[in-house]
Amino acid sequence: MCTGKGKIMKRVIDAHTHVTEDGRWFNTSYDASLARLFNEMEKAKLDKVILLPVSPYISNEFVYRICKEFPNEIIGFASVEPLKVKAIEELEKAITKYELRGLKLHPRFQMFRPNDGRLYKLYKKVEELGIPIMFDCILNRPTPLRDQLPILYDDVANLIPDTPIILAHMGGFKFLEVLAVANKNKNIYVDTSLTLEYFYRTPFQEQVRFVLEKIGYDRVIYGSDFPERSLVATLISAKKILIEFGVSNENLYKIFYKNILRLINK
Ligand SMILES: [Zn+2]
Repeated sequence: MCTGKGKIMKRVIDAHTHVTEDGRWFNTSYDASLARLFNEMEKAKLDKVILLPVSPYISNEFVYRICKEFPNEIIGFASVEPLKVKAIEELEKAITKYELRGLKLHPRFQMFRPNDGRLYKLYKKVEELGIPIMFDCILNRPTPLRDQLPILYDDVANLIPDTPIILAHMGGFKFLEVLAVANKNKNIYVDTSLTLEYFYRTPFQEQVRFVLEKIGYDRVIYGSDFPERSLVATLISAKKILIEFGVSNENLYKIFYKNILRLINK
């Protein structure tokens, strides 16, 4: 199916992965070990992956240690609990001392609403540091779903209009709402993890394609969400789906490699 297309995809960065110190992934049987990550990276022939911590479950210090040991393979983002008094201080340390390259926040696990005014100081710090910020955006419990709606990011994008904001998972069921926000805010980006595959071969597949095309392939970033997805299988299916969508080779190169590098090299 993808025969002959291998050549165009020589360089791939997976911008959405997690590992844990003990290799366990919350209360599931997924293997979140670094050993599995490297094993699958080799099989998938990935250039690099972005490791996303989730404070307080996965620490910045842990990600930093991995980045230091494997600087060619791993790019690390930071995570802080945004409502904690020391959040800004912790972020500064993670970026300046640990040299992490972006911030990941998780409204679902960290129990906050993205446009809560108490977070605006932190967002201003992100702007000052010149890093991208990624939010988990798939709408799932435990945080009430109404507090995770993509429309809420319109306020955040307005507040820090020059800061790239990556909405992970394209907003899940609310991908059309993501399009509304992205239409009005040039700093909104999406990652393809979970949602691209979820709607494949469903009545919504064409809508997903439409949304990606309208947002523009300069603002679409490839990710798998390892350990819940395999690096290898996700890469194969994402390539297949995007090629089926008629995405050009040049745009595939942007989605799988160039866009994320542009954001973190700023
Ligand atoms: Zn994730």
